[in-house]
Amino acid sequence: MQHEPFWWEMARPQPLDQQPFSPSCDVAVIGAGYAGLHAALRLARAGRSVQVFDKEVPGFGASSRNGGMVAGTTKFRLSTLIETEGEKKAFGLYREGLEAEAWFKNFIRTEKIDCHLENHGRFTGAYRPGDYEVLAREAETVTRHFERAIYAVPKAEQQNEIGSDLYHGGLVQEDMSALHPALYHRGLLQRALDAGVTIHGTCCVTGFGREGNELKIETARGTVKARNLVVATNGYTDKELPWLRRRLVSPQSQIIATEPLPSELMAKLMPKKRTLGDTRILFPYYRACPAHKRMVFGGRSGAWSNDPKVKAAALHDVMVSIFPELKDIPLTHVWWGNVSFPFDRRPKLAVEDGVHYAAGFCGSGVIWASWFGRLAANRIINEGPATSALGGDPFETRPLYWGRPWFLPLILGWYRFRDAI
Ligand SMILES: Cc1cc2nc3c(=O)[nH]c(=O)nc-3n(C[C@H](O)[C@H](O)[C@H](O)COP(=O)(O)OP(=O)(O)OC[C@H]3O[C@@H](n4cnc5c(N)ncnc54)[C@H](O)[C@@H]3O)c2cc1C
Repeated sequence: MQHEPFWWEMARPQPLDQQPFSPSCDVAVIGAGYAGLHAALRLARAGRSVQVFDKEVPGFGASSRNGGMVAGTTKFRLSTLIETEGEKKAFGLYREGLEAEAWFKNFIRTEKIDCHLENHGRFTGAYRPGDYEVLAREAETVTRHFERAIYAVPKAEQQNEIGSDLYHGGLVQEDMSALHPALYHRGLLQRALDAGVTIHGTCCVTGFGREGNELKIETARGTVKARNLVVATNGYTDKELPWLRRRLVSPQSQIIATEPLPSELMAKLMPKKRTLGDTRILFPYYRACPAHKRMVFGGRSGAWSNDPKVKAAALHDVMVSIFPELKDIPLTHVWWGNVSFPFDRRPKLAVEDGVHYAAGFCGSGVIWASWFGRLAANRIINEGPATSALGGDPFETRPLYWGRPWFLPLILGWYRFRDAI
């Protein structure tokens, strides 16, 4: 079993030729994932000189490791948001997700990025009997206020959506998609290079400070002065960036891939080729690989261990509880990466002391990291939408929290317990 992303078989992140280092530029960007590259691309196309720094090979972070599920949703259902925030704010938050999703799909289309973007919709299974009512209410609430193809599917019709009897019905969202995450990253990287962005791979930013109107950024290749700085390091934020590190909790998420499966079996398990998930707090997320030949199955199970075999076995157990047919199917890959959560579980677009932060995508960053990277750039060039209904809430830390989430095993244990009852 290989311990690196299945996606890398087709699009392994590649070291870039070393580019000229400039001691000054208009904007410096830390992190060459979706967020950093979108910010850089937008800025370069607006005529700014931009240098991006990544401490690893660009693409090493979550942006080439994720499940490739494309959804402009957040951790909160519209019905819950209406209850907690009131209609006006709830609608603003939900509408931004739809806008971001439409912009994202249009971006891939107009930039002609070949990343296997496919729209087969998503099915979310009701894990407990009572969850079905919650999902049905959500479908009813959304369709009352928005034009969206979203509907509940009762258990009696569930086999049309998924070849499993585990769930008590579920929710279909027809407009949700999937892509090949590493091909998307590769295409985006190329667009940024073509636009004139300078990208320094394996070049860690070790700190930064303000000097008058400028920011002085310390990197492994020397000091850079820039008028603006975008920090886009998300789940890979480490001690070099203490302000952000104190505001993020960054657990691992992991994925397994099976060996190729017979096409009849794939058609039985995933008859509509949808992306799939369920209502557990520690929910699994799963899909077919773009060629619909194998299962790609992710989740938090196994995050407590650093042993790839333990991670794979924990995810395998969850997969088999949904699809018993896969019990003896060998796995070919197990891999993992870091996601990140602000304390309020809402992505953040923040400005602190003139530094722009786009982070905290809560495991849903294919769209959100791309969108927030672009918004951060819009704010710098003062052009186009530059604020977010979702990302504008205060970016809080907690007393005595310095970025080491010692409490994570307790929280994960509590979530496992709640899912089990
Ligand atoms: C296993 C897994 C599955 C996921 N599945 C999905 C999914 O199906 N759908 C979805 O929407 N989202 C998913 N996500 C989340 C999504 O991948 C991320 O939210 C998104 O890729 C974040 O992009 P980013 O650009 O913010 O950060 P990353 O892509 O993580 O990039 C951050 C970069 O910052 C660099 N960096 C850090 N510190 C420094 C420094 N000091 N100097 C220089 N560089 C630095 C790192 O090397 C890294 O390359 C998943 C994530 C994981 C890990």
